[in-house]
Amino acid sequence: MARYVDSVCKLCRREGEKLFLKGDRCYSQKCSFEKRSYPPGLHGRQAQFRRKESDYRVQLRAKQKTRRVYGVFERQFRRYFRQAQHQKGLTGVNLLIILESRLDNVIYRLGLASSRAQARQLINHGHFDVNGRKTNIPSFLVNPGDNIIVRENSKAKPHFKELAKNVDGGRVPDWLELDQNNLSGRVLSKPAREHIDATLEEQLIVEYYSAR
Ligand code: SF4
Repeated sequence: MARYVDSVCKLCRREGEKLFLKGDRCYSQKCSFEKRSYPPGLHGRQAQFRRKESDYRVQLRAKQKTRRVYGVFERQFRRYFRQAQHQKGLTGVNLLIILESRLDNVIYRLGLASSRAQARQLINHGHFDVNGRKTNIPSFLVNPGDNIIVRENSKAKPHFKELAKNVDGGRVPDWLELDQNNLSGRVLSKPAREHIDATLEEQLIVEYYSAR
């Protein structure tokens, strides 16, 4: 499986905004975007003043930002886009709903991981059951009615022991339901556009792929 191995903080600097890819660190003084908000690279500091805001660049950045927020590689992102095109409704919104339905995102939204990257790692290590079956595929797409639970053996791990004391059900969106005592969650409905980051510009992504 392909994996992004460079510093993820560079992705925030490339997009010119905080993407919150590292969990708690993003909210602390240690966030590197607070110290260096210019693009990475030898000429990053100068490049920020020379940039031309062409339509292509605006569309590309909107696509890259969304891809990076959800931690999806280009090939899979394009596959999601094609899937969204074949569904009823607005392609851009369909795309965001598919991304939001990924198991790694759901674990993060339930508060069972501090970032999507951490959620992916926990899933890869086989710590979750979906509908009673061990599921170690972060891209698994959940459906209304699905039950997600931390496996019994995994509840003894330090991460989940700590989580059992601190998990915050207050931030769980209303299309999901968290059972704090059981460290489990349930998908109540499909996510809607208003549940998804309002700064993502899905129309620009549609324009990006439609032009090429
Ligand atoms: Fe981005 Fe988080 Fe790194 Fe800050 S700490 S630059 S928000 S990934």
